[in-house]
Amino acid sequence: MLGIRQWLTNRIPAAAVRAAASPYIAGDSLNSALELADSLWQQRGITTTLDALGEEVETPQQSEQALTLYRQAAAEVVDRPWVTLSIKPGQFGCRLDEALCERQVRALATSCQAQGTGLTLDMEDTGLTDATIALYRRLRPDFSSLGMVLQTKLHRTAQDLEILGSVAGRVRLCLGVYDVSPSLGYRRKQDGKDNLLRLLPRALQLLDGVEIATHDERVIGEVRRIVEATAGARERVEFQMLLGVPRRRLQDELVAAGYPVRLYLPFVAQWDDAEAYLRRRLAESPSLAGLVIRNLLSSG
Ligand SMILES: Cc1cc2nc3c(=O)[nH]c(=O)nc-3n(C[C@H](O)[C@H](O)[C@H](O)COP(=O)(O)OP(=O)(O)OC[C@H]3O[C@@H](n4cnc5c(N)ncnc54)[C@H](O)[C@@H]3O)c2cc1C
Repeated sequence: MLGIRQWLTNRIPAAAVRAAASPYIAGDSLNSALELADSLWQQRGITTTLDALGEEVETPQQSEQALTLYRQAAAEVVDRPWVTLSIKPGQFGCRLDEALCERQVRALATSCQAQGTGLTLDMEDTGLTDATIALYRRLRPDFSSLGMVLQTKLHRTAQDLEILGSVAGRVRLCLGVYDVSPSLGYRRKQDGKDNLLRLLPRALQLLDGVEIATHDERVIGEVRRIVEATAGARERVEFQMLLGVPRRRLQDELVAAGYPVRLYLPFVAQWDDAEAYLRRRLAESPSLAGLVIRNLLSSG
């Protein structure tokens, strides 16, 4: 099925892929992403995390290129405490060579730690879950600025949370955007979201910081109810959303209520790479195409 979807997605004209993606992308350079990050912070008190869109690497040289790009980004955000970085281990060669990936991520984490910039390991498809958790557990003791992601649609996440308890740190809880088989995860979004709410009290016990990445107003309301009923929790929670998903009113309400709100800002360094990545994402999650259209029609 994925093969047919990939085949179809590959036939969408490049201009259409770029046009469909443009509301979700903070421009075609690091500078454009930084300009947006600065204005979100100055005008609305919203912090950001930058993500350089790119394909899975196939050679050590491509992993080097990802490191070079992210090092540039780290250098640019040195005086911008409102900006953090998010990386995909796959983009640093995790599937190719775990030791290489660890060396590269360690190098970036060293720069980020020295300047006090947060760095988050995004979570990709289930083929990388074990490797990403292992990477985080090895690095986290050396880098207090490092965080990672758990996907609540996966059945394993309750156990993973307990495992992460030994290193604690900062974890982003999100439903997860990649398709999973029924043996590995919930098929219904609602079940994955209910799992997020079930896991939240334990996450608040085990972790230093909990980041809630969702655009679902009901889930956000429930999260607030749990957080506000838990002593000492409020200061350790942050809400996160994707650039381009129309939730301006909700974001401003959360900021006004005193919660930190962070937007995820993907930017494009090389359009060919980004386009390949976007096609793959559209093929994996056809519902994204529907979301794009619905959001273009809604005012937020
Ligand atoms: C800051 C951040 C970081 C993330 N990091 C990861 C990660 O590392 N790994 C991972 O697997 N997933 C990640 N995600 C994706 C997350 O898992 C998805 O946003 C999730 O699939 C959508 O879940 P939802 O809770 O918003 O609920 P949904 O029911 O999917 O969305 C609720 C409503 O929000 C809107 N919406 C949601 N997502 C989109 C979208 N992409 N485009 C357009 N409209 C949308 C729609 O209007 C939808 O009806 C991240 C999300 C955010 C916000």
